[in-house]
Formats: sequence, structure tokens, C-alpha cells
Amino acid sequence: MADKTLVCKDCGKEFIFTEGEQAFYKEKGFENEPQRCPACRKAKKQARNDRGPRR
Ligand SMILES: [Zn+2]
Repeated sequence: MADKTLVCKDCGKEFIFTEGEQAFYKEKGFENEPQRCPACRKAKKQARNDRGPRR
């Protein structure tokens, strides 16, 4: 395995899907590669948290 360069769906920037992350995804059984860069992923997570837990 080697690091992969992917393009973020949200901001269009390239980001690295590292070997370690690929191994993590594989271990979790995820078939899809990440669609967003870490920054956008974090922003999305943050936005969800700001709205508070779902009830
Ligand atoms: Zn992004």
C-alpha cells in the first residue's frame, strides 16, 4: 500500500489518504475512500456537534 492523493468533494483540494488510514478503513470494512479532506470532515463533525445530540 502507498499513500494516495484524493480530491475533496467539498473544497476541491487534494489531500493525502495515508497508508495508515487505508489500513484503518480496510480494518473497519469501509469500501469507499474518504470523500472529504480532514479539514472538511472536521468542520462537518463540528457542525453536527453544534446542533447538539439528536433525540
Ligand atoms: Zn475539503
